[in-house]
Amino acid sequence: MPDYMFLLESRLLPEQRAAMLRVQELSAALGYNVYLTGGTVRDLITGATLRDLDFTVEGNPSKIARELEKGGAKVIAEDERLRHVEILFAGDCEGSIAAARDDHYVRPGTRPEIRWSTIMEDLRRRDFSLNAIAISLNPASRGLLLDPTNGLSDIERAEVRALIIHSFTNQPVRLLRVLRFAARMGFKLEQRTQEWFDLAIERDLQHTIAPEDAGAELRSLAREENPTAILKSWEEQDLLEAVHPMLAKKHPDYDSINRLSKVRDDLFMAGLRPRLATPMMLAILGRLKDREQGSLLGKLGFRSAEVERVLEFEEEAHGAAKELTGKKLAAPIDAYRFLEKMPVDTMAHLFAFSSNSGAVSKIRAYLNKWRPLRLGIPSVANELTAIGMPAGPKFDAIVNQVFAMQLTGKGKTPEEREKILRKLSGIKEQPKPKETKGKDKKGAKTAVKPSATAQKPAAHFVKPAAEHKPAKPAAAKKLEKRKKK
Ligand code: ATP
Ligand code: MG
Repeated sequence: MPDYMFLLESRLLPEQRAAMLRVQELSAALGYNVYLTGGTVRDLITGATLRDLDFTVEGNPSKIARELEKGGAKVIAEDERLRHVEILFAGDCEGSIAAARDDHYVRPGTRPEIRWSTIMEDLRRRDFSLNAIAISLNPASRGLLLDPTNGLSDIERAEVRALIIHSFTNQPVRLLRVLRFAARMGFKLEQRTQEWFDLAIERDLQHTIAPEDAGAELRSLAREENPTAILKSWEEQDLLEAVHPMLAKKHPDYDSINRLSKVRDDLFMAGLRPRLATPMMLAILGRLKDREQGSLLGKLGFRSAEVERVLEFEEEAHGAAKELTGKKLAAPIDAYRFLEKMPVDTMAHLFAFSSNSGAVSKIRAYLNKWRPLRLGIPSVANELTAIGMPAGPKFDAIVNQVFAMQLTGKGKTPEEREKILRKLSGIKEQPKPKETKGKDKKGAKTAVKPSATAQKPAAHFVKPAAEHKPAKPAAAKKLEKRKKK
């Protein structure tokens, strides 16, 4: 069996790795076996972005969740019946922890009985082979891949394969899921799965999808990178009706969805990792009236806080745009600070849809100019050190002043910045040593005009800036006198 630990560790973001180590540690302390499962393993194998971490434990995850909460994690939803916890780990990383379980169907299509189980039984009760793979996080077998239904070979064949003939009968929501995974990954349905799918549609099983299950799929859809492809595939199979008749009648707002997807790419290029579930939901439902949106979400089992968040999002974003273009934020540095705190989904929504052109151009400046300048601040600090400024509050204040000036277009070249830094710190340039006869003129010139970063400060210039008077420092005066002699 190959070792997937290296692959995993190289693909996790630092905060995801920290969350994984913590869950591993807590599971070990409780004597539970723990595995990475489901979407996380599938995305790891296919090279897709690891959006969230799904863990399965042979034990009760609520004890782990309580400990994680002490360390700053937030439980988003907890289903005690299924022993399933949706969690936002410390460091803002999404995921879930669930107890390993087997779903036992007395008859196909009835509500299953739940039995706590081992990981192998848990994997076999899952929907599709590509979702039924696990990686062990236990000390004795860390990195071992568990693939009892041959999911890996289906991934290689680019096929979504349902695990049993009753798959769609047992859970009709899988009709939506199978198309979601196929469209997202550009896979096709495995031949028998396609036959079972067609049969289920013929028997009209799509109209027996529980509204909460359809709601969960809609929620997942809004988190997708390319909801258009999935919605089109649902529409082609007349499945939108099964999600909600109003959405089928009015159609998803594809223009808005595509515009927001494009903005996601722009934000990504600017180094931001946007989570756009709320504005994407608004975009999907963009052709429905507010009242219709609220009633659709309510019917599909969205929690009232979620519904409110969606319905109030636009107005809040509009308010933020107004503030951004107000007098108080006229100076670029104030607008920068405001945008730095603005939730990325609000920024994305405004960038995609706002008619407030002033706000949009400030967001554009923030993404394309201001943030890159901020990322260059460590080199400004190096330049300040190079002219002899010691660390301390004044040092930081100067760096911030320079940044504020850079936002207005000043200090573009190292030479300009050196001038600004010298002026703000009061540290004068080291005077040119007198030219000695016979020496190469060019060489002497380069010796006294070093670049700010390359120059090493003369020891006598390394003084706290506060001690420097605007007038020439004594050391410089002495040097000048000596030169005149
Ligand atoms: P995503 O990237 O959308 O989060 P995911 O595969 O993680 O994809 P989830 O809905 O988070 O999807 O579910 C996590 C895992 O739980 C799935 O990978 C699958 O193994 C299992 N699962 C979810 N829904 C079902 C279902 N209806 N029937 C069987 N297994 C399911
Ligand atoms: Mg998931």
